[in-house]
Amino acid sequence: MALIVQKYGGTSVGSTERIKNVARRIAKWKAQGHSLVVVLSAMSGETNRLIALAKEIQETPNPRELDVIVSTGEQVTIGLLAMALQEIGLEAKSYCGWQVKLTTDSAHGKARISSIDDEAMRADLDAGRVVIVAGFQGVDENGAITTLGRGGSDTSAVALAAALKADECQIYTDVDGVYTTDPRVEPEARRLKTITFEEMIELASLGSKVLQIRSVEFAGKYKVRLRVLSSFEEEGEGTLITFEEDESMEQAVVAGIAFDRNEARINVKGVPDRPGIAYQILGPVADANIEVDMIIQNVGDHGATDFSFTVPRGEYNKALSILRDVQTHIGAAKVEGDDKVAKISIVGVGMRSHCGIASTMFRTLAEEGINIQLISTSEIKVSVLVDEKYLELAVRVLHKAFGLNQKISA
Ligand code: ADP
Ligand code: ASP
Ligand code: MG
Repeated sequence: MALIVQKYGGTSVGSTERIKNVARRIAKWKAQGHSLVVVLSAMSGETNRLIALAKEIQETPNPRELDVIVSTGEQVTIGLLAMALQEIGLEAKSYCGWQVKLTTDSAHGKARISSIDDEAMRADLDAGRVVIVAGFQGVDENGAITTLGRGGSDTSAVALAAALKADECQIYTDVDGVYTTDPRVEPEARRLKTITFEEMIELASLGSKVLQIRSVEFAGKYKVRLRVLSSFEEEGEGTLITFEEDESMEQAVVAGIAFDRNEARINVKGVPDRPGIAYQILGPVADANIEVDMIIQNVGDHGATDFSFTVPRGEYNKALSILRDVQTHIGAAKVEGDDKVAKISIVGVGMRSHCGIASTMFRTLAEEGINIQLISTSEIKVSVLVDEKYLELAVRVLHKAFGLNQKISA
């Protein structure tokens, strides 16, 4: 008998038929004697629909009210699942974030969880009920509804598993685990039986949306046993996120490839090469709450240098207009950019002990005539920025070059 937290994503609860399937799956786990806390997303497409509705009224929606609106998707699915379970003879009770209560800070749209009250849930579990919790939602100290950011139900689930000291947190989604890359782009991608926590953090932060990055961080902090599984397949062990690099694990230098289309590049050319220039360029961007990702500054030549960085695509125009002001202020020659770029990253803890990985990546892209615009590296990843039109091709050739479509013997 175990205490298990299960999370079902949008596609898995996308219709009442699918919700009934989820209920049947839960009934099987219950029949084996397990206690279950189930976290749900909104039906697929619903959160986008709600955001679009809000934008019909306010171009930049008020953050507090936007959370009131977008949190409703999850309230619908939890009620429906409770009913579906009751219909098949199981006792179940649904909870909104504020009822749990899952307290967060007041950063609407990207709130961080500060505490979880597990008392009511424990009483339900002791009484044999299935506890159903709305993912994505929280409540701040003033009682305002907050949300945890896109994909935030993953984080709700891991946080609940940590608070309840659950034996396992299972993330059920529309693929049967974490793959070497997004199987929608590379059909030859393979499911990984295990992936290290560090690699999963990198993949999530570099654009693989299979798990929200905060959920992986949470799992790391509280040592939650985390597994990704398919809600559409009957059996399967999915992918387990592991905390140690186990000798018997699949050992590949590169574990996976992530990509991110949400990128735009800005170049500031002919910048006077003097102390404080990076701050003068990026300070106003940070003040406008625009997150900067890759940053490159060249060694100066004849007192001038070039400076490039990337921002989220949705902030491109805003960043560009800020930079035009900065250009006049610092006396730069030119500001230009491109919002049709994508970032591709190879990730693997094995890179620590292998050299030449980056050059294999660069050679592979060169052979396809794909130009690299920016590069950034860390101990366990190499990222490149390329023209978006080469994204799929680049992912596929890299997948092959690093042998990811071949079975690795354990
Ligand atoms: P959910 O609605 O269940 O939360 P998401 O759409 O957020 O599901 O995440 C699952 C999707 O993540 C998959 O359908 C897949 O296209 C995508 N994905 C991206 N990278 C990977 C990867 N490395 N492994 C598996 N899925 C990935
Ligand atoms: N419904 C929210 C979203 O679409 C949260 C989630 O599904 O995890 O981002
Ligand atoms: Mg998701």
